[in-house]
Amino acid sequence: MKVYSTISALQEYVSKLKLEGKSIGFVPTMGALHYGHISLVNSAITQCDITIVSIFVNPTQFNNQEDLLNYPRTLESDIELLSTIDCDIIFAPSVQEMYPEKSVSIQLDLGNLAEVMEGKFRPGHFDGVVNVVSRLFEIVKPDKAFFGLKDFQQVSVIRFMTNFLKLPIEIIACPTLREQSGIAMSSRNMRLSESEKEDSLIIFNSLCFAKKLASNQTPDEVKANVIDYFKNGKLALEYFEIVNPITLEALSSQWVPNATACIVAFCGEVRLIDNMNLKIQD
Ligand code: AMP
Repeated sequence: MKVYSTISALQEYVSKLKLEGKSIGFVPTMGALHYGHISLVNSAITQCDITIVSIFVNPTQFNNQEDLLNYPRTLESDIELLSTIDCDIIFAPSVQEMYPEKSVSIQLDLGNLAEVMEGKFRPGHFDGVVNVVSRLFEIVKPDKAFFGLKDFQQVSVIRFMTNFLKLPIEIIACPTLREQSGIAMSSRNMRLSESEKEDSLIIFNSLCFAKKLASNQTPDEVKANVIDYFKNGKLALEYFEIVNPITLEALSSQWVPNATACIVAFCGEVRLIDNMNLKIQD
């Protein structure tokens, strides 16, 4: 496994592989890797000849400096973990390497996709995501890129960006990996104590409750009941929305196939995100 921190060294190696006709699978991450990330890497390994994982805590997608400073950084153990599977290349650039002084940022009109949920509560977040992912795509030029459905809205934004910029990259959305308890695996879980992890289970339980209610209630009714249910726990709810999975518009009286419940809550200072498909369509 090769580890690169500069764009030029990475591109020199990758262009050789491309000349040999190898297909490139790419998994962008912010590190502090867990088995949720590894499941994405394994999908890339299965579907592509060469797998590249980037590890970069992107400052431009954090609207909260405290959150950025507290974000876990564990590069050495990340490298160790990836070396135990068939990952071929790690790209771990510095902020300076990714954003040299004269770099220009792209501005996309993401419309409703960036106005609701994460877009509403984290102003500028998706501008940061679009900029870093488009830059990484430009550097790596993958055939396929793998993203987790845990960040449901992010997948919609990345698909929109890829179509808008007409990039020849297939976006693969991968299911959320959970702990046995049900809590979604997340780098931020490292910041939770055991009892906080138990408290955080209310997120998964709320989603399961929503799914159960969805069989005989309207989206509005489910939302009201889940918000009420959430008050029994210790976490602070930021939002709970039931949305159309394509447009991300909130549903009120009518269900649509694959309607998805999206939730964000704070356990102390730690912001946790999760979602669940309430109306799975085969
Ligand atoms: P992050 O390092 O948090 O930016 O995540 C990198 C990629 O891993 C993103 O596409 C996430 O959606 C994905 N990811 C994070 N947690 C999970 C999980 N529990 N299951 C599956 N994918 C995940």
